[in-house]
Amino acid sequence: MRLLLVEDDAMVGAGIRTGLGQQGYTVDWVRDGAAAELAMQTTAYDAVLLDIGLPRKTGLELLALWRKQKNAVPVLIITARDAVSDRIRGLDAGADDYLVKPFDLDELAARLRALLRRNSGRATPVIEHGALTLDPATHEVTLGGAPIKLSAREFALLHSLLEKPGVPLSRAQLEDRLYGWEQEIGSNAVEVHIHSLRRKLGNEWVRNVRGVGYLVPRQP
Ligand code: CA
Repeated sequence: MRLLLVEDDAMVGAGIRTGLGQQGYTVDWVRDGAAAELAMQTTAYDAVLLDIGLPRKTGLELLALWRKQKNAVPVLIITARDAVSDRIRGLDAGADDYLVKPFDLDELAARLRALLRRNSGRATPVIEHGALTLDPATHEVTLGGAPIKLSAREFALLHSLLEKPGVPLSRAQLEDRLYGWEQEIGSNAVEVHIHSLRRKLGNEWVRNVRGVGYLVPRQP
């Protein structure tokens, strides 16, 4: 899952990036409104964590702009403003959730999972697909009831593919999910992780669609 973090406070931003990074998210961090606008134009994000008080363009201005452009990316507002009217303005401007600073990183992570879950149309926290289950909260994966140990990258790949079984994701799309701007990508990194995933789960779970990408079959 790739996230855009828009936060001008260095301490808060670093804390969120580190904390969510440890949970397997790829976090691109920008510190002002103009950079956020540019990032959104060039990268597909699974969700945005958006501060309101920002240099060069406020969070509410950004949000209004994205919704006007029909961009439905889930947005979680994180801000120090705890006045009720600000909260209402944020939600009315198209935010999906709202967290007031200072907050607990575990709560942020839980709200983010709920947001991503709602966005994928699932009501239940654990993804079940045939004999395969994946729990975004605990990072546990089971196949036929038996636990499967996956690396953080393998987990992230499987999670992305399981969000839409039957729909192929290209190598570039998978790279986007796995790596932020500051990380070097090996030319065959996605293939290496897919190979290892297939070795652990069985080839039938991750199919290669020639010239297109990879998918988890709709009917496992
Ligand atoms: Ca701020």
